[in-house]
Amino acid sequence: MQHHPEWDNPFFKEVQANFERVAHAMNLDENIFIRLRVPERALTVSVPFRHDNGKVEVVTGYRVQHNDTLGPYKGGLRYNPHVNMGEVAALAMMMTWKSAIVGLPLGGAKGGVAIDPNPLSRQELQRVTRRFTIEILNFIGPDSDVPAPDMGTNEQVMAWIMDTYSQQKGHAIPGVVTGKPIDIGGSLGRKEAPGRGVVYAIIAAAEKIKMKLDSKTRVAVQGFGQVGGAAAKKMEKIGCKIVAASDHTGGIYNPKGLKYESLMAYLATNKVIKGYPEGDPISNEALLEVECDVLIPAAIERVITKENAKKLKCRILAEGANGPTTNEADKMIRDRGDIFVIPDILANAGGVIVSYFEWVQDLQNLFWKEKEINHKLWEMMSDAFEKVYATAQKEKVDMRTAALMTAIRKVSTAMLTRGLYP
Ligand code: NAD
Repeated sequence: MQHHPEWDNPFFKEVQANFERVAHAMNLDENIFIRLRVPERALTVSVPFRHDNGKVEVVTGYRVQHNDTLGPYKGGLRYNPHVNMGEVAALAMMMTWKSAIVGLPLGGAKGGVAIDPNPLSRQELQRVTRRFTIEILNFIGPDSDVPAPDMGTNEQVMAWIMDTYSQQKGHAIPGVVTGKPIDIGGSLGRKEAPGRGVVYAIIAAAEKIKMKLDSKTRVAVQGFGQVGGAAAKKMEKIGCKIVAASDHTGGIYNPKGLKYESLMAYLATNKVIKGYPEGDPISNEALLEVECDVLIPAAIERVITKENAKKLKCRILAEGANGPTTNEADKMIRDRGDIFVIPDILANAGGVIVSYFEWVQDLQNLFWKEKEINHKLWEMMSDAFEKVYATAQKEKVDMRTAALMTAIRKVSTAMLTRGLYP
């Protein structure tokens, strides 16, 4: 097989190795195998933008399109100083699986800009976003590739992308991105969808292992952002107790329970969790090892490793983040056998599900009620969970392997049906 040095990145190699492991176990068609193990297209751009002090900085941006057999590419856009091509490619491949598991007519992509958005002013963030949009303009569009928020980006960033794209085309095109503000074609329920979906998956998993979700259920959440924050809110709403929460500055632990609203109020003024008074400080590493029933890593990839896999004390591991568990750690958890893992490509699929709803609403110019959206999200998450669980039972494999099998089967069948062009 051809060697691709550009994919020599630890995260990409892991995601690729995971695909290869499952593809072999399934006896996947060799021609499909060699096509799916690398992305279809990977774009690197240099993005110049002016700081408020007049200085120009050039940062690197990426858009990787892994597979579009089932429909337009779809995937988030990440702003983080450590973003690189390998990371974006890994996340793009995972998006292909995610869309396929839940049965969406979409492919997989991901984007990133190697920049820390935190110290930027609103104007600086806007300038770098608009220029990045221009650099990738010919590769995105409502029919071809539809970005969405991810780590470090939000509704406002999506609004600027939508506006820049629309200005170039001469008319409003809301369907070019999802995760937009409601007043420019965003969908009700989109912001909370990934976190809400994580909780729907936890409810389904708890039912399978006959675990009650009540006031005694202890939940630890790493990363209190769009995914982790919304998941914590919903877990509290269904009656569970949040015992630990963190962000990039560290975390807070309180076995009696942290209150979501109070944490959010603290975050609104202080921007970070550090210093929150109602609990004890805890590191991000220690948070993963606290006594809890449900552990939700919802920050970054590769935090559950061979060093701490044996020290996890949860019964359900719900992967809100993409790729939080390394392959080595995953094997150790499989061998332990006492933790029910809801793998990322299933657990956090709520984001792409409601992104899909937003895209459909934009294309039809017809908008749905929030109740309807949340109900449809619940249905799709439950169906996907049951489908993966049934595969796990039938093939006698773990949930991660079953999730990948479900996705690979769906994509490969479609590829074989479409055939190889020319
Ligand atoms: P976000 O930027 O809203 O929040 C990320 C959180 O993680 C913040 O609290 C941040 O402080 C914290 N964090 C950052 N670096 C950290 C570190 N080194 N250690 C501990 N905490 C750290 O991002 P998000 O959109 O919630 O994304 C989080 C994860 O969920 C990512 O893996 C992302 O790919 C995945 N995800 C996001 C969506 C979505 O729609 N936003 C959907 C599916 C999956």
